[in-house]
Amino acid sequence: MDVLISGAGIAGLSTALDLASRGHRVTVVERAAHFRVNGSPIDIRGDAIGVVAEMGLLEEVLRRRVRTSELTQFVDGDGEPVARLPLREVSDSDDDVEIPREDLAQVLVDALPPDVEIRFLDSVEELADDETGIDVRFASGHRARFDLVVGADGQHSAVRRLTFGPESDFARHLGLYVALADLPGEARSDRLNPMYNSPGHLAGIARYGNRALGVFMFRSDPVDHDHRDLDAQKKILVDAFEGHREWKVPQLLDAALADPELYFDSVSQIHVPTWHRGRVVLVGDAAHCATGLSGRGTSLALTGALFLAEELERADGDHTAAFERYEARQRPYVEFAQNSVGDGAALVVPSSWEAITARNERLRGLETA
Ligand SMILES: Cc1cc2nc3c(=O)[nH]c(=O)nc-3n(C[C@H](O)[C@H](O)[C@H](O)COP(=O)(O)OP(=O)(O)OC[C@H]3O[C@@H](n4cnc5c(N)ncnc54)[C@H](O)[C@@H]3O)c2cc1C
Repeated sequence: MDVLISGAGIAGLSTALDLASRGHRVTVVERAAHFRVNGSPIDIRGDAIGVVAEMGLLEEVLRRRVRTSELTQFVDGDGEPVARLPLREVSDSDDDVEIPREDLAQVLVDALPPDVEIRFLDSVEELADDETGIDVRFASGHRARFDLVVGADGQHSAVRRLTFGPESDFARHLGLYVALADLPGEARSDRLNPMYNSPGHLAGIARYGNRALGVFMFRSDPVDHDHRDLDAQKKILVDAFEGHREWKVPQLLDAALADPELYFDSVSQIHVPTWHRGRVVLVGDAAHCATGLSGRGTSLALTGALFLAEELERADGDHTAAFERYEARQRPYVEFAQNSVGDGAALVVPSSWEAITARNERLRGLETA
C-alpha cells in the first residue's frame, strides 16, 4: 500500500521502518527542516525492549545507552546537594533502557530502507477520504493520493485535528510546562545532574555523553499561545521564572533564550476515544500522549508502530480490521502508562517549601534505608 506518515519523531520513524520492511511504499512528511535532535534522554521500557530487538536494533540501542536519570541530585539555592533521586522513584520497570532521543531517532533513520521518502518543511493541510483512497493537500501546495495516512505528528497532531477535531477535545493538562535548552560549554566536572526546586519550579542540568541540557519545569494553568511560536514560548518560560536569581537559574534562562531549537510544551495527556477513522490512523503521542511524567511515551510509540504494521500484514488489505486489532493490542499499554503518572508533579516540582523539604527528607531516608 502507499502510506503517508505525518511526523518524523520516534512514532513516525518506527512506523516507517515497520511498514517499509513489510513491503509498503512509505512517504514521511515532517514539518521541521530536519530530524529534531533535541530532547533529553528517553526511556525504552518493558515490552518495548522486545520490540526494538524484533526490529533488529537492540544492539545499537544498548551501545548508545546512557544513565542520566539515576544520576539526578537535588540541590539547594547555593548548589549544595540535598537529596539523590533513586531510579525506582522515576521508573516503574526493572527493564529500562535510557537513550538520548536524538540517538534513538538516528538509529531508526539509519535502518530505514532507501526507498522511504522523507519530505521536510511540509505538512498535511487537507485530507479527503473517498473510501478508495485519500487525497492529500500539503501546505507547500503539493498534492498526492495515498491508500492510508498515519498521524504520527505528536501531541499537537495536525492529522488528528483534521480527522477528529480540535486538540481541546482530547487534551488533559496536568498543570505543568516543560522546557529543554541546549547548554553548550557546560563543564562536566562530575556525572551528577543537579536540579534546583523552588515552590512550583524546577531548573536543572542534565548531562549525557558530551552534551548538557538546561531543564525547566513549572506549574501553571494552560497558557493560551501558538505552540509553533518559539518567541512566545520563550516569553512564557522567562515570565514563569521572573525574579528567580538563585543558583544557576539566570544562566540557564540565558541558554534557553539563545537556543533556536528550545523544546517547550505543556505536560498534557491526549485521550482520543478511537484512533482510526476511514483510512486515517493515529500512532504515538498524536493518539495517546502519556507525558514525560509517565516515562513511557517512547515505549508506546514503538509498540504501537509494530502492532499497526503487524496487523496490516495480517489483515491482507482490510485496513479497518487491522486498525481495530492494532487498537485492541495497544490500548492496555496506553492505559497503564497514562494511569501511572499519578502525582508525579509532587516528586519533581513540589508546590511549596514545606513540600520540597518533606520530599528531600523522604529521599534521604530512602538513601539510608
Ligand atoms: C524536539 C522534541 C523533544 C522531546 N523531548 C522529550 C524529552 O526530553 N523527554 C520526553 O519524555 N519526551 C520528549 N519528547 C516527546 C517524546 O519524543 C514522545 O513522547 C515520544 O517519543 C513519542 O513520540 P512521537 O513520535 O509520537 O511524538 P514527537 O516526538 O512529538 O514527534 C512528532 C514529530 O512530528 C513532527 N510534527 C509535528 N506537527 C507536524 C505536522 N503538522 N506535520 C508534519 N510533522 C509534524 C514534529 O516536528 C516531530 O518531529 C520530545 C519531543 C520532541 C518533538
